[in-house]
Amino acid sequence: MATPSAFQPSAGNHGEEEFERSLRPRSFREFLGQDRILEPLQVMIQAAAQRSETLEHLLFSGLPGLGKTSLALTLADEIGAPLKMTSGPALERARDLVGILSSLERGTVLFIDEIHRLPRVVEEYLYGAMERFQIEFTLDQGMHARMLRLDVQPFTLVGATTREALLSAAFRSRFGHTLRFEPYEPAALRLILQRSAGLLRTRVSTQALDLLAENARGSPRIANRLLRRARDVAQVEHASPRGSDSEDIQAEIDPAVVQRTFELLGIDGHGLERADRRILEALALAAGRPLGLKNLAVAVGESEESLEEVYEPWLIQQGLLARTPQGRILQAPGWSLLGLSPPESASELR
Ligand code: ADP
Repeated sequence: MATPSAFQPSAGNHGEEEFERSLRPRSFREFLGQDRILEPLQVMIQAAAQRSETLEHLLFSGLPGLGKTSLALTLADEIGAPLKMTSGPALERARDLVGILSSLERGTVLFIDEIHRLPRVVEEYLYGAMERFQIEFTLDQGMHARMLRLDVQPFTLVGATTREALLSAAFRSRFGHTLRFEPYEPAALRLILQRSAGLLRTRVSTQALDLLAENARGSPRIANRLLRRARDVAQVEHASPRGSDSEDIQAEIDPAVVQRTFELLGIDGHGLERADRRILEALALAAGRPLGLKNLAVAVGESEESLEEVYEPWLIQQGLLARTPQGRILQAPGWSLLGLSPPESASELR
């Protein structure tokens, strides 16, 4: 049986989704390691409140697992606004959008996840609603065609996207502000892991915390998942916790537990999973010739989306792989990690 990936999105996995929900930050104070994003947001919130206006529309852009959904939920709580959640693919027809917009209460935060997957026709209906809080649509056709205008309550649209470049310029320009989520530093992930460990009644040693934070690829979602798996290992394979507060503590994670967890998950000493290695090996097999996204996806048995959003960003950041206009190539550190030397022809591409 294939090892479940610690790095893949959890869509459709109810256990994982429930677990994530239980660890979500409940306030800006608990939304850790993102002052760069929070500070301008708090100024916007205050300014809107002083003018008694609804908050401007916001676009949250960044890789999966960096906290876009969490921040949208927290934002609604912080400003005391109702929240409505949907996603680009769920709004298939204009009718779906009209249904949602016409039922909004004043000031609602409308969160549309994967907003780059909103069908173009639906997107165009959204423009008027974003700009003037009005939806305009045509009833009937030909001679009987009539233009109808529907007022909607002022609302704040929060769109989240992992693929900002896929949004049209016209759409992007309708957001008041774009918040770009960057991968988290290990120090920020340590804070997140400490908070999560407390909620999970788990004690984690400093060294274990460092190991988890350094192997989480800058993602709170992955950090929490590694913690969860390590807690399982600690409970099943290790002695029960000691100490005066042991009644509250259900598991104790030390570096040995983390190493064992990584072994079980197939994460090696470089923080790479089996799928990462398969990607590097497929590129090595191409002997230095660039591989297109489609071919690479087929070669490693992963979807193009997970390659682009889950695996590649990390491999690129580590300097192992590069995206070129001709396709993906293995970089010098990638060749040496596999214990190979690049063929002569590959050196021209680097
Ligand atoms: P995204 O919507 O960008 O895919 P999520 O908001 O679903 O990411 O975040 C995934 C998980 O990571 C959440 O369940 C939450 O527990 C955790 N998380 C994300 N960002 C933070 C943060 N800044 N502070 C604390 N936990 C966070």
